[in-house]
Amino acid sequence: MKWSMFIFKVVANGQVLLYNTFNYAIVVFEEEVYNRIAGMIESGQIEDCEEITALKEQEFLIDKDLDEQAQFLSILKEEHDNDTRMCLQVLTTTGCNFKCPYCYQEGICREERISKETIETLYDFLDKYISVNNKIKKIFLILHGGEPTTNWKHVPDIFDVIRRICAKYDIEFDTQIITNGYLLDEEKINLLVANNLRNIQITIDGVGYVTDHRRLARNGAPTFNRIIENIHKILATDTTGKVRIRINYDKENADTVPDTIDFLAKEFPDERVEVTLGYITKTMDSLESNPYINKYGIELSELVRYYPTFHRKLREAGFSPENLLIFDGLCVSKMRHNMVISPTGEIYKCPSGVGISSFVEGNIHDFPTEVPDYLFYKLYDYCFEQRCPFIPLCQTSCRFLAAAKNGAVDSIDCKREALEQVNVELLKDQFMT
Ligand code: SF4
Ligand code: SF4
Repeated sequence: MKWSMFIFKVVANGQVLLYNTFNYAIVVFEEEVYNRIAGMIESGQIEDCEEITALKEQEFLIDKDLDEQAQFLSILKEEHDNDTRMCLQVLTTTGCNFKCPYCYQEGICREERISKETIETLYDFLDKYISVNNKIKKIFLILHGGEPTTNWKHVPDIFDVIRRICAKYDIEFDTQIITNGYLLDEEKINLLVANNLRNIQITIDGVGYVTDHRRLARNGAPTFNRIIENIHKILATDTTGKVRIRINYDKENADTVPDTIDFLAKEFPDERVEVTLGYITKTMDSLESNPYINKYGIELSELVRYYPTFHRKLREAGFSPENLLIFDGLCVSKMRHNMVISPTGEIYKCPSGVGISSFVEGNIHDFPTEVPDYLFYKLYDYCFEQRCPFIPLCQTSCRFLAAAKNGAVDSIDCKREALEQVNVELLKDQFMT
């Protein structure tokens, strides 16, 4: 037997924790027990005992001859090639009624609005694409922008297209929306709920003034109270969809995050509400030359000062954040049938690339039946050479940031150091006494 390479090991407080990033299993040993087991494995003299049995069952210990890289890539390829999911992000507009100082889309064209003609073409495109890619069994529709609610008049037409396609090919769909929440009213909410709402993502940067001055309406109006009212309207429906409230933080508002978490827990005691954390990072500065981010953005190396504290606060407030910090993973850009459709019908793989010509991967008006994706198997060679335990969680990093940093989308922007630093703290806090 040998240790799997997908083990992230934490030693603290006289204990050793092993986290299997491939199957999410966790074991914690007293240090002396771990040392005894490790000694057995190193010497090859493995005795039967309950610890060894458990480690084998949870694939911490694997067959000595198993080639984990080959096995991992073969599973990945199998899942990718036979993917039955189509994640379809439709941008109803690139325009927005807010003017957030850190917005990554601020530099791109703000005027595009989806038209009836583009939506009709979307039907023909999907018809052709799905007739060829006939393993697709579910469409995950995501309404996105800009701010999708600012060009709502054609949203019923988009749902009509999706419903007709799903009926024709006997496939399911559900709906997500990423919105600032300001213009959500009963009519829009009811339309979303009637179309299998799975989740709504809304960003709140803090309580009252904190949101009002960071999530700025273009017309100067305060935004916080109205967003909160609109979240109540969603929760007043019988939707089983989640309301995912994201708190964006940087050095300007980081000290208010614990109060924001307390506020959200009291305001929305509803199991459909989830709270997630998004940090504004200086990494983006090189992309956008944004003076706000330059001033307040958080360096990756500084994340360990913030994230574990906020994570603990979320748990204390009754929310259930993911056990570990994961940056990129098998994101939408790496999925075979994911597409981001711009208001004019351009196809992208990554939502962050919208408006940047080098990220355009096609156009629905050309009716492609295949769109290149950003899952580059060759990149895994580097990660396996490093014997990085985060491979299943990171999946060779973010293509968008890698392109910005290195000038090539098929390159790597490794954040292993930050993953190690933050996740040691998270695991210690959650599982080690
Ligand atoms: S490439 Fe990066 S920015 Fe684009 S979807 Fe993936 S993780 Fe997100
Ligand atoms: S990019 Fe870095 S952190 Fe991600 S899997 Fe590769 S080596 Fe690990």
